[in-house]
Amino acid sequence: MSGPAPSVIIAVDGPLASGKGTIARALSARFNIPYLDTGALYRAVAVAMIDQGALPENVEAAERAARALDVALIDEVRVRTAGAGVAASVVSAHTPVRAALLDVQRRFAAQPGGAILDGRDIGTVICPDADAKLFVTASEETRARRRQAELARRGEDMSFEQVLDQLRQRDARDAGRASAPMVKAEDAVELDTTEMSVSEAVCAAFTLVKARLDPARPCTPC
Ligand code: C5P
Repeated sequence: MSGPAPSVIIAVDGPLASGKGTIARALSARFNIPYLDTGALYRAVAVAMIDQGALPENVEAAERAARALDVALIDEVRVRTAGAGVAASVVSAHTPVRAALLDVQRRFAAQPGGAILDGRDIGTVICPDADAKLFVTASEETRARRRQAELARRGEDMSFEQVLDQLRQRDARDAGRASAPMVKAEDAVELDTTEMSVSEAVCAAFTLVKARLDPARPCTPC
């Protein structure tokens, strides 16, 4: 399959368990451009703070952890836990933390050949000039079911109600914070994956991105 033009930047934003990570990884494979899960950066900062015994509410400690972040931490299994996700949503609301993580994200986006980044503020703050922007959504219940199943696969059993409750709190923090809140960029295309299988969501995302990058050529079927 032919890829997009060189140095293409694709921004994939949306709330947790909307399918954005799965979509971003699939687009990365199809277009053969590198992918960064920016949520893992905030999760890694939260884990580093937990390791130091610092509370995520502690802005100074959070900024220090963000500035000293060992990016290798993002691949550790512990950053994927529900606890790390909750702590990340607290840590990520601190403006100095966001400032400390800006460069690493922009550098990743600027690499030759382009990049795909997913997160909450990629299309609005990190890469406002991205060539294609998706805002991926799904209903709260669908997302909570997906997150519950994902956590169970990782050996973390939580009730549906607990997961839904955490999800609502995290959404509220992410959308309500003053600094780079989660919001659809004006020029992003919204993709609601509530009723879609993984392959349908990936196909829909591919079609939307392809149309944005190369409007003159119709998309080949997935
Ligand atoms: O995407 P994920 O759920 O792993 O992200 C964890 C947390 O990191 C989010 O709840 C959000 O608070 C924060 N985040 C952010 N900006 C991003 C990516 C993630 O604030 N670009």
